[in-house]
Amino acid sequence: MSDCIFCKIANGEIPSATLYEDQDFRVILDLGPATKGHALILPKAHYADLTEIPEELAGKATALAKKIVTAMKTALPCDGYNVVQNNGLAAGQTVFHYHVHLIPRYADDHAGIGWKPGKLTEEVRDEVLAKAKEVL
Ligand code: AMP
Ligand code: ZN
Repeated sequence: MSDCIFCKIANGEIPSATLYEDQDFRVILDLGPATKGHALILPKAHYADLTEIPEELAGKATALAKKIVTAMKTALPCDGYNVVQNNGLAAGQTVFHYHVHLIPRYADDHAGIGWKPGKLTEEVRDEVLAKAKEVL
C-alpha cells in the first residue's frame, strides 16, 4: 500500500525506533506511548486487520509478542504487560495496517487500559451462542 505509513515504517522507508527486525516483522516504539516501552509489532506486508492477515503470519506475530514481552519484562523492567490488537474504527484502530500493541505495565501506572464490566444476561448469552454456532 503506497500511502500506508506503517508499510513505510515496517520496510525502512521512514526511520523508526526499531527494537527488533526479522524477515516478516519490524518492532518499533510507539510515538504516543501508553507507558514507557510501549512497542508495536508491524508485519512488513500490508494487511488491514486480523481478519485479513494470513493465519500463519498471525501465529508468528503471537510468537514474536511472547519473545519481546518475555525479554522486555526483564530489560525494562516492568510488572506486567498488556498485549492489545485493535480491529476497526469502533474498536479504536487508527492505523489500518495490522499491528500488535505491547504495553508494559507498572504498578500504579494508571494507564487506563480496560473496559467497564457489564452483566451477561441469559437472553444475550443464548443469542450470542446461537449466532456464533451458526458461523463457527
Ligand atoms: P491503533 O489505534 O491500534 O491503530 O494504534 C495506532 C498506534 O500507532 C497509536 O498508538 C499511535 O501512537 C501509533 N503511531 C501512529 N503513527 C506512528 C508513527 N509514525 N510511529 C510510531 N507510532 C505511531
Ligand atoms: Zn500498510
